[in-house]
Amino acid sequence: MNYDVIIIGAGPGGIFSAYELSKLCPDMKVAVFEAGHALSKRKCPIDGKKIKTCISCKSCSIMSGFGGAGAFSDGKYNITNDFGGTLYEYIGKKQALELMRYVDEINMKYGGEGTKLYSTAGSKFKKICIQNDLHLLDASVRHLGTDINYVVLENLYEYLKDKADFYFDTPVEKIEIGEGEYKIICGDKSYTCKKCIISVGRSGSKWMETVCRELDIPTKSNRVDIGVRVELPAEVFTHLTDELYESKIVYRTEKYGDKVRTFCMNPKGAVVNENTNGIITVNGHSYEDPAKQTENTNFALLVAKHFSEPFKDSNGYGESIARLSNMLGGGVLVQRFGDLIRGKRSTQNRIDESFVTPTLNATPGDLSLVLPKRILDGIIEMIYALDKVAPGTANEDTLLYGVEVKFYNMEVEVNENLQTKHDGLYIIGDGSGITHSLSHASASGVHVVRNIAENM
Ligand SMILES: Cc1cc2nc3c(=O)[nH]c(=O)nc-3n(C[C@H](O)[C@H](O)[C@H](O)COP(=O)(O)OP(=O)(O)OC[C@H]3O[C@@H](n4cnc5c(N)ncnc54)[C@H](O)[C@@H]3O)c2cc1C
Repeated sequence: MNYDVIIIGAGPGGIFSAYELSKLCPDMKVAVFEAGHALSKRKCPIDGKKIKTCISCKSCSIMSGFGGAGAFSDGKYNITNDFGGTLYEYIGKKQALELMRYVDEINMKYGGEGTKLYSTAGSKFKKICIQNDLHLLDASVRHLGTDINYVVLENLYEYLKDKADFYFDTPVEKIEIGEGEYKIICGDKSYTCKKCIISVGRSGSKWMETVCRELDIPTKSNRVDIGVRVELPAEVFTHLTDELYESKIVYRTEKYGDKVRTFCMNPKGAVVNENTNGIITVNGHSYEDPAKQTENTNFALLVAKHFSEPFKDSNGYGESIARLSNMLGGGVLVQRFGDLIRGKRSTQNRIDESFVTPTLNATPGDLSLVLPKRILDGIIEMIYALDKVAPGTANEDTLLYGVEVKFYNMEVEVNENLQTKHDGLYIIGDGSGITHSLSHASASGVHVVRNIAENM
């Protein structure tokens, strides 16, 4: 089969590439290859009753399939250059923001209308944070919620399904460079295209490394973020979350001068498992529908680590720490903050007697046996710092789940059009190591297609 454009990966990057192609190049023959299932077939088997923890499915429904890692995410589209990726370094700050707003408009058109857009602009919390040595980053946040995010994806698929050929459960194994075309190999079948957009996200990181090696595309190591997910009664943070929804707060530790930051805040949300290449870590999300909300708020506290010489494998370092927690807990560990401070492991009894009911079934344990001292010290310092702006954060019963690891793909060498040194071969989204969020990944897809259309 011959196509004009083949998109590899149907996460936000791939979906918005397909969408923009349908608008700007409606006559082009487009195919989308996706390793995971169609949206309607995506279902994580963990039901909390029969299946309580991750059983490492062949294709993880949380990370793969139409919608990518974003499908069951919290659907927080952060419109900002302050975090979520460095797309602006390639395309400029103004254009990056414009593209993120364009993505937001499409999301509104396809089912997101009526959802709230929060903003830090003019917030009194900026001052309160600075007074307590904490730094609130600027952003506008569209919160779709897991439920509306799913509706938007359903509607986008309805629109796209007749405009492109979708191949689900079809991982691309190899890309070969031919005469003015690319050969895409999946099992015993192969397809050709003139332009190829690779958007394989974090779950495709290992495969991406192989492709870059085989096609001689230069890469450089990226950072890894390591930490815990904090869960506490929603009331502790309502003064922040009601106004801002998500607050990205950065703190520099007194002890080591390391930066610790809050990440992915989910008011009245749930903590979930995440499976990346067989390693189980923790994440969180929440629903827009009040009926599905919980009594807890969760967010991550992360410390960035970047190794370059002589050890370069930042992700490998994060993986080893996550493996240690998987080894001790069979998955994710949970510990009460009070137990951590007193140097005691949490037990099921202590968790059951706690005033905070965990939303994830994790193994009670001791995070100090897993996290390096420097990282754990930073997290503890940050919890006490947050306690000044949100009293109750450092309560005995605050739950800490570990470990949360944000793996970043190695950064690929691309130009301002996100094109590799091979003409017509683009790498976008989280798979490029340039973006780490729904809005940046989606915007990168639109950007690439606009460039393709311009040069048609
Ligand atoms: C639980 C959870 C909650 C999150 N919440 C938020 C949030 O609220 N806000 C936010 O900004 N970000 C959030 N994120 C991160 C966000 O989902 C990602 O940044 C975003 O999905 C990246 O989009 P992408 O298209 O680059 O990659 P992905 O969404 O990862 O999509 C890549 C797709 O490529 C497919 N693929 C991989 N390899 C191959 C191959 N060889 N052949 C074919 N297909 C392949 C994968 O199956 C996958 O479907 C969350 C992530 C998780 C897991």
